[in-house]
Amino acid sequence: MTDYFRTLKQRIDRYLGKVDITRPPLSDFLHVVDEDYRRFDDDRRRLDHSLTLSSEELLQANEEMHAIFQAIPDQFFHLDADGRVITYKSGQSSKHYLTTDRLLNKNIDEIVSLEVALKFKEGIAEVLRRMSVVVFELVVIYDKRVHYYEARMMPVQVNEVVALVRDITERKQAEEQIAYLAYHDSLTGMPNNRLFKDRLRQGLAHAQRNNIMLAVMFLDLDRFKLINDTMGHDVGDKLLQITAERLSEVIRRSDALALNKSPILNSSVARLGGDEFTVMLEDVASTRAIARVAERMIEAVSEPIRINDHEVYTSTSIGIAIYPEDGEDVDKLLKHADAAMYHAKKEGRNNFQFFNQSMNDASVERLALESAMRKAIANQELSLYYQPQVSVVSGQLVGMEALIRWEHPEKGFISPSVFIPVAEETDMIMEIGEWVIQEACRQAAEWRDRGFRPVRISVNVSAKQLRDKRLPDIIASNIFDTGLEPKYLGIELTESAIIIEPDMALSRLHNIKALGVKLSLDDFGTGYSSLSYLKRFPIDTLKIDQAFVRDIRVDQEDAALVKAIIAMAHSLGMDVVAEGVELAEQLEFLGANACDTIQGYLFSRPVPAAEIEHMLGKAHIID
Ligand code: C2E
Ligand code: MG
Ligand code: MG
Repeated sequence: MTDYFRTLKQRIDRYLGKVDITRPPLSDFLHVVDEDYRRFDDDRRRLDHSLTLSSEELLQANEEMHAIFQAIPDQFFHLDADGRVITYKSGQSSKHYLTTDRLLNKNIDEIVSLEVALKFKEGIAEVLRRMSVVVFELVVIYDKRVHYYEARMMPVQVNEVVALVRDITERKQAEEQIAYLAYHDSLTGMPNNRLFKDRLRQGLAHAQRNNIMLAVMFLDLDRFKLINDTMGHDVGDKLLQITAERLSEVIRRSDALALNKSPILNSSVARLGGDEFTVMLEDVASTRAIARVAERMIEAVSEPIRINDHEVYTSTSIGIAIYPEDGEDVDKLLKHADAAMYHAKKEGRNNFQFFNQSMNDASVERLALESAMRKAIANQELSLYYQPQVSVVSGQLVGMEALIRWEHPEKGFISPSVFIPVAEETDMIMEIGEWVIQEACRQAAEWRDRGFRPVRISVNVSAKQLRDKRLPDIIASNIFDTGLEPKYLGIELTESAIIIEPDMALSRLHNIKALGVKLSLDDFGTGYSSLSYLKRFPIDTLKIDQAFVRDIRVDQEDAALVKAIIAMAHSLGMDVVAEGVELAEQLEFLGANACDTIQGYLFSRPVPAAEIEHMLGKAHIID
């Protein structure tokens, strides 16, 4: 048997020599030792050697056992089949649930809660039935906190077991933390896409079983990117957090209202990423009820937010899809809510739209348009047309506006009012816009070289291009490369492009203006700013939107407005171009009210470069 003790000693040394994490559980160790014992005991019997343990050896074994318990965090129970404690030892850990030593001979159900005792007893029964190791977890609440334990039980004889119980609360908490991170958005603490889809799946199963309605909302903050880009990411983050809170609050209140009627209502708000949020409304009574929630959300989001002394305004566009009409699965409902949201954006933002099939067709069409446009640039399907601008007094051509044209190989001409917004959303406008500037400068230089009388060509520049720091350089290098006299290039900007970010626009416009280029304010009257507000921008020309010109002969108010705009513009030192002049009476009215220039079908539609040459005249003949 001395061999046995030598082996035991080696095993203990090796066991204790391992670092905590690589050290196998004590139960496994005891199992191996137990096997050893049986083997050596058999040998002993076979050799018929009498076993006599010296007291020294006994002492040593005892000490070594003690050492093991010093090294492990487990609590050790030796129990009989009924759950009575035969021996109890505690490893080194401050987190033991059972700290008392008076456990001997007590039954486990006198020591722990009934629930935990029951688990233990089930464990004992299973271990003795299978005669192998069984592992199970226990949840114990004490000191007002939840504690998790792992119990490993193994048979000792046919009717006794040994249990090693370890506190695994920290590991459990880490696991829960990981699960939380995997299912929540770290910025807002809201459920993320994954959790939302899980809940939606459950919600749909529930709706199907109970034959009830469910709504999915897709929200996108309007102009969030602009705020993020101009005011910084900190402000953007804060805005998202506050918006998340507000949306959750609306849902909470809607739930509370509905609770009287339906206790199962279980709504959920999630952040999909970026400035997109999704909402699930379960068990909604009617589309009216859904609309009411959407209205409250729009209201909540549009309340001004104070961040670092800034008043930040935002709004949201909401798309809504309803189960079962608009789709029966998670992906379809989300896709359709997204299409409806896109439609809400097109309808002028800050509103909600219910999905209908035509939106789906529209979004498919839009995707097709997007990919066709990418090819259009590469295949050179884009060109510039020019529309003359004529002096009201002399009737002479004094300038022209360059307007982009896209001739699709199959669909023919596609209107810029259709594809420019898409180009703006996808950033393709940057490439297209640069090409427009380059082409207009090239054309102007070509006409100059061929001896035509020089007139100003105005190009349209979108808000996104204005936001690009490189815009003044792009304009400067094209002027430089073509040797164009800067005053012969005009830049047209809309009111909204300027007033969204006035400070940025002001400095950018000054940089452009410093090149000697002329600036026009396009579509004036459609925005919401006053002329006196606009006077701080270095604008040369005001273009009255065609919507006002159209009705000047029939609508008294429009007539008065146009008159006032012309007078105001002149007092601010700007000249005025009237857009969309189609009729002689309109021209007459404009002339009578001192409008400087007209542009419209009355004189000419936008035409290809070769056609406008006839109207240009040679410089040496006219000048
Ligand atoms: P816009 O800059 O206000 O251009 C004037 C629009 O009015 C042009 O439409 C022109 O064809 C149209 N128009 C001119 N005279 C009349 C008229 O007498 N009656 C009517 N009903 N319409 C008239 P178009 O070419 O379809 O362009 C639409 C808009 O697309 C432009 O409005 C402009 O905002 C944008 N756009 C055009 N080319 C470009 C470009 O190169 N870059 C950018 N960013 N936008 C462009
Ligand atoms: Mg224009
Ligand atoms: Mg215009």
